[in-house]
Amino acid sequence: MSELSQNHINIRVRFAPSPTGYLHVGNARTAILNWLFARHCGGSFILRVEDTDMDRSTTEYYKELLDDLKWLGLDWDEGPDVGGDFGPYKQSDRLQIYQDYANKLLAQGNAFKCYCTAEEIKEKSELAISKGESVNYDGTCYQLSQEQIRQFESQGRKPVIRFRVPSEEISFSDIVRGTITFDGDNISDFVILRAVGIATYNFAAAVDDTLMSISHIVRGEDHLSNTPKQILIHNALGHTSPNFVHIPMILGSDRSKLSKRHGDNQVRQYREKGYFPEALVNFLSLLSWSSPTGDELLSMKRLVEEFTLERLSKSAAIFDLEKFNWMNGWYLRNIEFDKITNMAIPFLEKEGYDISDETFAKKCIGAVITRADYLQELATRCSIFFQDEVMFENDTLMKSESSKKIFAEFLNETKNITDWRGETFKQIMKTIQQKTGVKGKDLWMPFRMALTGLEHGLELPNVVELLGLEKSKQFIQKAINT
Ligand code: GLU
Ligand code: ZN
Repeated sequence: MSELSQNHINIRVRFAPSPTGYLHVGNARTAILNWLFARHCGGSFILRVEDTDMDRSTTEYYKELLDDLKWLGLDWDEGPDVGGDFGPYKQSDRLQIYQDYANKLLAQGNAFKCYCTAEEIKEKSELAISKGESVNYDGTCYQLSQEQIRQFESQGRKPVIRFRVPSEEISFSDIVRGTITFDGDNISDFVILRAVGIATYNFAAAVDDTLMSISHIVRGEDHLSNTPKQILIHNALGHTSPNFVHIPMILGSDRSKLSKRHGDNQVRQYREKGYFPEALVNFLSLLSWSSPTGDELLSMKRLVEEFTLERLSKSAAIFDLEKFNWMNGWYLRNIEFDKITNMAIPFLEKEGYDISDETFAKKCIGAVITRADYLQELATRCSIFFQDEVMFENDTLMKSESSKKIFAEFLNETKNITDWRGETFKQIMKTIQQKTGVKGKDLWMPFRMALTGLEHGLELPNVVELLGLEKSKQFIQKAINT
């Protein structure tokens, strides 16, 4: 167990996603770091689904979320699907609990009913802004008389419940960032229960972290401003807050917050392109953590062994797709070849290739494996072996006198060939060179273009062996006719 965790014998961490969209790589990293910490310490990893935003949360996203987490190789000890002693684990099943605790805070004087309408609040804050004053809640409803309350209710107003933020400093020690202090005077009396009786995020999360005995909260630094509010709630409920770690946001290559603009940012998108979960876990872990050995290619097992919160970094994490591709490519070439082919076949099928000859398909995969980083790319690269007609990247090359000459010679030399291998092709190229005087690039480039449609690519003898004699002749004939 790591040093900083010693005063918590029971390590209990949670991943608390909202099922309002597909799993973002930033949230996946949060899940992974929590999971690694729990597994490293022999603690518990809890999945809590924060679905109190009924308009945006869907069952579909909930299911996909669980599916993506499992695909990553994560498992949880407690959660909505597996149960546990601290359930229910879906916040929509805990609404009564939040109402009870809101009433408790009301009774204790930590919270109050507020009858101000949204329009009134908006007007007041606009006025405050225009005067350069604080936009904090102005205290209108601190001490309403019974008469005022009756009046509001007769107008049909439904109150929200606000937490009464004390005028004091709120300090906590972040394991990565050290002591962080907020001034209560800068925090508005925030809503904990909406008029419809549904808890807000800050309240539900703080109640649950308390009731679920969470020992460490590891989450993105976008939640930093929520932390003092949650600490106030923990305290009002008579509990000590968990330990906090806020990890830096993931940025795109231009150092702005990672978004759609930067390309794929959902786990699902990488999954669909044939990236490997091991590679994604490896890559995302290293976005804000590093191994004490400095190694970068780390299995899940090693990550679990080496992971400690102390090695989390506070500097921004850049999502470098090139690096991820490199890493995934390493996995592609180091996972057992049989496993790779099994995973790659569906991608070849999706491209519409005829893969009825599995041995042939395997050979094709083997031929391009050093030229691809993920399975979809690998499948695309295999196209040269499955096409019935070649589309030339550049057909001027096909039209020259010298090309016509060498192609004609190829058809001539292959007339009586029966045993077709890469070696046979090499031999024939030598003969063509001797007979026509064409050599080097002038010889090989036209053939490459004629046989694959590409200017650059794989070793040509390997390609033609897989293409077979008939197709090779057919493609050369087409090139002559171009
Ligand atoms: N539901 C919140 C989110 O997805 C959880 C934040 C937290 O970890 O407290 O951002
Ligand atoms: Zn009010």
